[in-house]
Amino acid sequence: MKAKLVRMTESELNMPALMEAGKILKNGGLVGFPTETVYGLGGNALDPRAARKIYEAKGRPSDNPLIIHIAEMESLPLIVKEIPEKAAILARHCWPGPLTMIFPKSDLVPMETTGGLDTVAVRFPSNRIARELIRQGGGYVAAPSANVSGRPSPTMAEHVIEDLGERIEMIIDGGQVPIGLESTIVDCTEEIPVILRPGFLNQEKLEEILGNVELDPGLLAENEHVRPKAPGMRYKHYAPKADLSIVEGPNEEVTEKIRCLTIENLLKGRKVGIICTEETRGLYPEGIVLSIGARAEEETIAKHLYEVLRKFDETEVDVIFSESFRTPRMGMAIMNRLLKAAGHTVIQVGGGGSDEEI
Ligand code: AMP
Ligand code: MG
Repeated sequence: MKAKLVRMTESELNMPALMEAGKILKNGGLVGFPTETVYGLGGNALDPRAARKIYEAKGRPSDNPLIIHIAEMESLPLIVKEIPEKAAILARHCWPGPLTMIFPKSDLVPMETTGGLDTVAVRFPSNRIARELIRQGGGYVAAPSANVSGRPSPTMAEHVIEDLGERIEMIIDGGQVPIGLESTIVDCTEEIPVILRPGFLNQEKLEEILGNVELDPGLLAENEHVRPKAPGMRYKHYAPKADLSIVEGPNEEVTEKIRCLTIENLLKGRKVGIICTEETRGLYPEGIVLSIGARAEEETIAKHLYEVLRKFDETEVDVIFSESFRTPRMGMAIMNRLLKAAGHTVIQVGGGGSDEEI
């Protein structure tokens, strides 16, 4: 099967194509589509066969639950048992948008969609193409990121074609997505809401709205005894083909260290990749240097992270050294993905101490 490719923009929806995509979903088929976070792989969330197809197309373990996407607030009560007060408040402030919330599920939602859990994750995206597709498809679209399991999430249609072009019915090309990292997941079923996956909406923003919000301790733990609550955060995540290390410390010392490591590795005959920013790209005379974005505009770093990681897989470098991106608003979400990709290999520089790998 070769996916039919259609193009449109949020300001000029291609309604005939969206109606065709909606029919595919209603018949149990799969459609790749843009959202404001990353591209999604959509199937009818209320059809257990569609859920099974999603797991198969992605090669995703079937106990890793799917997020149900809705296009109207009125759709929510049918798929959940109750709406906790804090979830209602967050929905009012952040939906439509890059926020997923966990609810006790209603009987309408098949266990195949929730990976056997009695809770369900729900998101109401803001992208107009996504919303119209959801409406045309019957109102409930299960959609994980549209990548093969273990690869970076897709931020443009080309990535979806690369991974799933032969496995699904249709791909909607809506251009490059604006955010580039998956949605923030919040569990409001607890007394104090818990962030299960960091994203564009950060802890500070959520606390402005709700008061105290905690971070799932499993997200920060590097030992395996404290497990993340979101099943998907437990799986071995994307790792580039090359060995990726993050160099962390004061800016000048980081660039100096990366230059040294580059020379050392080049002398050993290895091909070296460097992930840097617009501010530092001129400081690396050797190696294959890719700028991820500008520190002055941290959103650009999030937006290009997965694209840069995919590019390095094509370039076939042996080792990659990345600067660290603990930026003020999105730093936690960016570093959560980058640290996983690096298998938590961090080279600490500066502060007078010796280098340390943690
Ligand atoms: P993806 O679809 O690739 O963005 O991944 C969806 C994420 O949502 C995974 O990390 C899932 O484990 C998580 N998730 C989905 N449903 C639930 C749920 N009911 N409880 C906790 N986490 C969930
Ligand atoms: Mg994913």
